[in-house]
Amino acid sequence: MGRFHPLSIARIDRETRDAVSITFAVPETLREQFRFTQGQHLTLRASVGGADLRRSYSICSAVQDDALRIAIKKDPMGAFSTWANATLRVGDVIDVMPPLGHFNVALDAKLARHYLGFAAGSGITPLLSIVKTSLAAEPSCRFTLVYGNRSSATVMFREELAALKDMYLERFNLVHVLSREAQDIELMHGRIDRAKADALLAQWVPLTQIDTAFVCGPQPMMDAVVAALAARGVAEAKVKVERFAASIPKHMHVAAAPREPGHAECEVSVTIDGATRSFVVATSKENIVEAGLRNGIELPYSCRGGVCATCRCRLTAGEVDMDVNFALEDYELARGYILACQSYPVTDRVAVTFDD
Ligand SMILES: Cc1cc2nc3c(=O)[nH]c(=O)nc-3n(C[C@H](O)[C@H](O)[C@H](O)COP(=O)(O)OP(=O)(O)OC[C@H]3O[C@@H](n4cnc5c(N)ncnc54)[C@H](O)[C@@H]3O)c2cc1C
Repeated sequence: MGRFHPLSIARIDRETRDAVSITFAVPETLREQFRFTQGQHLTLRASVGGADLRRSYSICSAVQDDALRIAIKKDPMGAFSTWANATLRVGDVIDVMPPLGHFNVALDAKLARHYLGFAAGSGITPLLSIVKTSLAAEPSCRFTLVYGNRSSATVMFREELAALKDMYLERFNLVHVLSREAQDIELMHGRIDRAKADALLAQWVPLTQIDTAFVCGPQPMMDAVVAALAARGVAEAKVKVERFAASIPKHMHVAAAPREPGHAECEVSVTIDGATRSFVVATSKENIVEAGLRNGIELPYSCRGGVCATCRCRLTAGEVDMDVNFALEDYELARGYILACQSYPVTDRVAVTFDD
């Protein structure tokens, strides 16, 4: 688990001028490892201009599709997404890590739930997987999806969503909100900010019936939607948010004071792929990913921002100071899981395992 595998690209579709979807060929030997749950993401690794880059991309296919497909929207200033949009071709081989993530709920065909989705821009990618999978797996569920874009030309998966709407006329409610294109209904024109989210929720969504709301898009849009849901009484536990790394404000690590004066160094043991290696770090100064890589240990990581969970491992001895965590659930923290890219050893000895 958790290691990169070379996968070849079986298909590339241009979704918009700025986004491609990529379908991977998964060999029979890796089928189990690449089995996914709706809303999960893959971490890709490639050498771009001589730099080893890793980025996470949400799976957009449905669990029932028997296809592993992601979509990459070009950030004009972004290294990986620009490279991927410009250079990847069918037959190319790229390193991919098995699926990760919790942006989903367990499905149950017996239930008649009502889901709500708010997506903007490339935030539609996990939502497409969730919508398709849920409508197919729960024959009585309903899904309301609000999808914000600048104009109809930038709408990713426009035809696929329209086809889903045709297929599930009674159960799928699709609301396009366009910020730079006039719409017949004024409510569907503009950015999804707090006022727009309030108005959409008031006029379009019967909130008392919502079982789970999924939110994915730029940070200001997610903040607005989450606040609007909370203001209308939707319990926090019913709201699931997926953050893309670029939306996270960068933070600087502030070293904690040493637990015991004079204890300036920590011995860290890392178990990965059945082997344990140790190295020494300055207490509270370097995180486990940085220190491990500096010591020549090939550790799994991607966003380095506490978002993607690629570096998830379990603390088996000692204590760490974890800066931010946008990825681990409370039950994982309770079982000792940490994000290595955010964890700074603070005790004389720390041991972690990536092999759980
Ligand atoms: C769980 C998860 C799922 C995701 N799913 C998707 C998905 O489905 N589709 C998708 O398109 N993306 C997705 N992302 C985002 C994706 O991983 C990348 O972050 C995104 O593609 C940008 O990567 P990049 O290398 O192109 O940009 P980067 O090179 O990382 O740059 C990102 C931004 O930072 C700015 N920047 C870079 N360097 C500097 C600098 N030195 N100073 C100032 N600014 C700088 C750039 O201008 C750019 O706007 C997901 C992220 C996560 C964590």
